[in-house]
Amino acid sequence: MELSGTVLRGPDLDPIQGRVVVEDGIIVAVEETSTDPGEDIVLPAFVNAHTHVGDSVAKGAGRDLSLDELVAPPDGLKHQLLRAADEAEKIAAMHHSLEYMERAGTGAFLDFREGGVAGVEALREAAAGLDIEAVAFGRDDEAVLEVADGFGASGARDAEFSAIRNATRRAGKPFGIHAGERDATDVNPALDLNPDHLVHMVHATDLHLDRVADAGVPIVACPRSNLVTGVGLPPLADLVDSTTVALGTDNVMLNGPSMFREMEFATKCCDVSDETVLRMATVNGAAVAGLDGGAIEPGAPARLLVLDGDSHNLVGYRDPVRAVVRRAGVADVDRVVLPANS
Ligand SMILES: [Zn+2]
Repeated sequence: MELSGTVLRGPDLDPIQGRVVVEDGIIVAVEETSTDPGEDIVLPAFVNAHTHVGDSVAKGAGRDLSLDELVAPPDGLKHQLLRAADEAEKIAAMHHSLEYMERAGTGAFLDFREGGVAGVEALREAAAGLDIEAVAFGRDDEAVLEVADGFGASGARDAEFSAIRNATRRAGKPFGIHAGERDATDVNPALDLNPDHLVHMVHATDLHLDRVADAGVPIVACPRSNLVTGVGLPPLADLVDSTTVALGTDNVMLNGPSMFREMEFATKCCDVSDETVLRMATVNGAAVAGLDGGAIEPGAPARLLVLDGDSHNLVGYRDPVRAVVRRAGVADVDRVVLPANS
């Protein structure tokens, strides 16, 4: 398989006029060409580094509720609606979200899945037959570690997580946790658990960021979610100065899981460059999700997104990175290439 156009090459997403050659799911060559490669834009497929696709049954519910009333376990509206929905309904709703994510250029996503073992199995069933990789972080109990890719904790203010954190380490799996979403009180307790990544960090202080930098803990920022729930915006520039930062769309209940929308919002709301935002949405997300590769370079698994640069929306673009981050959308997606379909 050969893909031509403006290729955003390597971890720095440097635009070249060229082509990418893929054999058996692996990128074997990335090269500049002297002939016109056409107007397509070839970039790494997006990695949505934080989702809760389980609440696809609750889209838009809970107008005017506070963050706790919406999503706090065990009785936030989201959890009530999840309990009320039957299993088939939840799986069908997740499947729709995943198919939408695939069509919107997302090659993989890291989901914090509620509902223990059954919840993780339901997510796998929802993803079956789709060209999108589900990285499932389960919760609730130790048994979930047998089927999940990691443990996704609600937050250090909600419960005591040291035992399950240790069990996760013994299982050789990563541990992620929400922190600093409503306020700063749960950040140090979360960092005390030596997590593999933190989610949100809207209320990160300089001292927290020193700890994050020293320990090399990546952060997943979800700026649209933070705005919807009224907790403020993450200090993206400070986070980026301190550690690896990825991007997630968070609850499907609150926002559609489109990385195009998240990127556009992040670049326009916060003081970070378009290149930084695109790295957050691709190579950094792959790193947080524990996926090999993530950048377009020889030897990496082929997780690629091809955008139609001749679409009504993109035709005549002057700057490929700005076109992707600020302007492109679902309708501009030509194809997503994954190791399994190349
Ligand atoms: Zn979350």
